[in-house]
Amino acid sequence: MNIKNNYIIYTLLIFTVLFSFSCSNNTDEEENNNETAKNHQKDTTHSTEQKDHWSYAGDTGPEYWSEIIHGSQCGGKAQSPIDFSGDMLDKDYVALNLDYKLDSILDITNNGHTVQVNIPWGKFNYNGKEYNLVQFHFHSHSEHSLNGEYFPLEAHLVHVTADNEIAVIGIWYKEGAENPILAKIYDKVPEKAGETIHSVITIDLNNMLPVDHSYYHYVGSLTTPPCTEGVEWFVMKNPREASKEQIEKIKNAMPPNNYRPVQPKNDRVIEDY
Ligand SMILES: [Zn+2]
Repeated sequence: MNIKNNYIIYTLLIFTVLFSFSCSNNTDEEENNNETAKNHQKDTTHSTEQKDHWSYAGDTGPEYWSEIIHGSQCGGKAQSPIDFSGDMLDKDYVALNLDYKLDSILDITNNGHTVQVNIPWGKFNYNGKEYNLVQFHFHSHSEHSLNGEYFPLEAHLVHVTADNEIAVIGIWYKEGAENPILAKIYDKVPEKAGETIHSVITIDLNNMLPVDHSYYHYVGSLTTPPCTEGVEWFVMKNPREASKEQIEKIKNAMPPNNYRPVQPKNDRVIEDY
């Protein structure tokens, strides 16, 4: 196995861990979580495995993440998502140089927090750094808002550099015409937590983004525990359309309201490209 393969497997592992702190009853997932819990609790004597479980409601919901997830940055000052409103810094457009290809082998997984599509290949370049696409997943309603208004669905395309720096491209969906990408995965969305569908379908990821690639950029965090900061966010200003049925299908496969509330911007600058 070459270094590149090792790297891909390593990054997939990281993101499996990041997105699979699950409270579901799936045995394999519980085993992974136990391993993760052990790693995260090396330096504590009193936290329990239960404390690494999080959700979108009740006493393991977003307002408690900073307390219940040991070592997380969920209580930090540069968190995501945010509301795009008020003063933004007007910038000359800088292209993201997307290099997404047609891909045909996908794993679509329901990890109990989201529906996630693991992608074998794709990248973009920004500020001299190369970000490799690992997966995309969904939140409903949207996590980022625009002047206080939410969209029914938001996709996050998660990328990492070789040095594990993270960049996420966010895409809002509004209700409208059938979406060609969502049509491809419509029948493959796993409806139960812990289920993965390995699929050979051809997806042109370039169609994931709106035609106009104008975006808001800011530095924030992962929106799920451990809420790691230093994430470069690129949220597309123009929403894509998806049919009511497509939005409902994805929404119904995920836990209700799997969005983190918007976080304080504090002194962060939002750039408008
Ligand atoms: Zn997300």
